[in-house]
Amino acid sequence: MIIYDTIIIGGGQAGLSVAYFLRRSSLEYLILDNQKKPGGAWLETWESLQLFSPTQFSSISGWQMPKSKGEYPTKKEFIDYLNAYQERYDFPVQRNTAVIQVEKESGIFKIVTNRGVFHAKTVVSTTGTAKNPFVPNYPNQSDFEGTQLHSVEYRNPMIFNGKKVLVVGGGNSGAQILSEVSKVAEAKWVTLEPPQFMPEDIDGRYLFNQANSSYLDNNTQNFEEEVSLSDIVQVESVKEGLKRGIYKAVRPFHSFYKHGVIWQNGEKEVFHAVIWCTGFRANLQHLEALNIIEDNRVKTKNTRSLKEPNLWLVGYGKWTGFASATIYGVGKTARATANEIRAHFKTES
Ligand code: FAD
Repeated sequence: MIIYDTIIIGGGQAGLSVAYFLRRSSLEYLILDNQKKPGGAWLETWESLQLFSPTQFSSISGWQMPKSKGEYPTKKEFIDYLNAYQERYDFPVQRNTAVIQVEKESGIFKIVTNRGVFHAKTVVSTTGTAKNPFVPNYPNQSDFEGTQLHSVEYRNPMIFNGKKVLVVGGGNSGAQILSEVSKVAEAKWVTLEPPQFMPEDIDGRYLFNQANSSYLDNNTQNFEEEVSLSDIVQVESVKEGLKRGIYKAVRPFHSFYKHGVIWQNGEKEVFHAVIWCTGFRANLQHLEALNIIEDNRVKTKNTRSLKEPNLWLVGYGKWTGFASATIYGVGKTARATANEIRAHFKTES
């Protein structure tokens, strides 16, 4: 039986970043990923998606992303980069391998997959959030006879041609999807709060520079007060939508009925479809048997589980490190994680 020193579950940008920092160690490690090619969540996004991070902030550790054609990279440019990154460093990745459950037996992790059982002394979970889309609950949601889909299922606006569509969610996804849906359909936008757009002259570069310097100063509280990584970046489609005046958001409705929604004032409005651009939660299902999940999170010190100290979690959100769920931010937590794993094996030997 082979017992790996480390198995990384998930071969997206977070998994590859951890692998980058482990590759020069003598540790025997393996990445398991359930997709057939590199790209992680980016493979499951809409066709016209533009990253909100400019090229220099869309690079993972060690190798700068080649300059994109436009100001902001397209999804294809970023997926190509991840493919080239994996090839460049020749990481040991086993694809088409879905981890079903992680168990612990006699101090060793038993990793049950659709392609057999793997064993490891330590595990890094980097399974992202895309497999766990979040849709809020509204009264009578199941009565609605129209189409409901999450942004993760949305590909392009064609099926909404001539329809009445409600786009829910005030982040980058909602703004980009609304822009193209509103060209073919009558679209309305629902957001919890009035949406916040980054000023045109202050683009994603500024946001990420601020994030970086605040991080380096260890001053993340001020950062959160001044700027937010969730403000809508004015990529081309958003600029164009602003010019058309489409971003008139209204606050949430009260409930659903058969043909649409009922607003807070009791008025009914017909909609053929609702697109939920309401985000994601950490995808941790495979860790359930370890009994460490509380409120869809694992208690950690930095990225290391407190209850299961041979397990690290990287890239899920603020709770796994500042800006760790962004391309630019994940590198710092990946490096720290690899260092901790190395130190763990040193003290063991
Ligand atoms: P993922 O990319 O989801 O990778 C996880 C991998 O693990 C996937 O391949 C998945 O299939 C696999 N996996 C999951 N479960 C299992 C399992 N049980 N067994 C085996 N494999 C498994 N960030 C930025 O910095 N800039 C942006 O412009 C930006 N735009 C975004 C736009 C959208 C629409 C979204 C949703 C996010 C965006 N982000 C952006 C945030 C973030 O960079 C991405 O979500 C990124 O994909 C996260 O990478 P990850 O490696 O953590 O997770």
